[in-house]
Amino acid sequence: MSSSEHNENSEHTNPAVDGSELIKFDNVTKRFGSKVVLDNLCFDVSSGKHVTLIGPSGSGKTTILRLLMTLMKPEEGTIKVGGHYLTHEEKGGKLVPAGEKHIREVRKNIGMVFQQFNLFPNMKVLRNLTEAPVHVLGLSKEEAEQRARELLELVGLTEHIDKYPSQLSGGQQQRVAIARALAMRPQVLLLDEVTSALDPELVAGVLDVLRDIAHTTDITMLCVTHEMNFARDISDDVLMFDAGRVIESGAPEKIFSDPEHERTREFLGAVL
Ligand code: ADP
Repeated sequence: MSSSEHNENSEHTNPAVDGSELIKFDNVTKRFGSKVVLDNLCFDVSSGKHVTLIGPSGSGKTTILRLLMTLMKPEEGTIKVGGHYLTHEEKGGKLVPAGEKHIREVRKNIGMVFQQFNLFPNMKVLRNLTEAPVHVLGLSKEEAEQRARELLELVGLTEHIDKYPSQLSGGQQQRVAIARALAMRPQVLLLDEVTSALDPELVAGVLDVLRDIAHTTDITMLCVTHEMNFARDISDDVLMFDAGRVIESGAPEKIFSDPEHERTREFLGAVL
């Protein structure tokens, strides 16, 4: 993992698979009107690593996850996932803005869990987990159900397989949402403040499931969270954001115990 300032020499013409970088942001700028939300952002995440994005509200963390989910596009720069551009595709030896089909293919590598669970309310838990694997990945119903059962065991919800989301607590719904994201076997799991909508007593159960996944699988995680103890437990690297830039990055022991930047000290002082 590394981050850097604007790279004048960045190469935007070769979309070949490039080593172990699973996610690569290269000079990404995102604006809303005249407001610059991400400012020439460069960072990469190696395969299997768990990277946490921290920083004050409005510093651009969620925008990064939304760009990766292709819910929006950057104004400038490129994003790669698994060695393939998410923002562009190669046509006739040139890099052109990515078409829908290309985006769909690259997106299959990415799973996301949202703050508000976003389960299908009209489907029971089992079908929430099998719907996309059957319709998007083309798994047979039997294969998808087998995988769903394994994942429900992983998140401790086997006995709730036949319930509707509304019959579950918020914490249980969020654990279903985690299992549903994993059912697509993504290479990378994006977690966007997944405990912020939960009652305090339900937070620990969800974080325990995520700790378990972080420690027992090889999935790459990119996580926005205000749960600093959780971030310390699971992260290989922590990126501290301020005003759309990474102002400091490093191992959690370093960032949380001995931050270099005054802004990081202020932020941690307010949240710890
Ligand atoms: P964070 O996750 O760090 O709190 P966000 O990425 O959600 O920050 O937001 C960064 C900035 O972008 C904020 O100032 C926010 O108001 C603005 N923003 C985010 N989404 C939109 C949008 N769809 N339209 C306009 N401004 C937006």
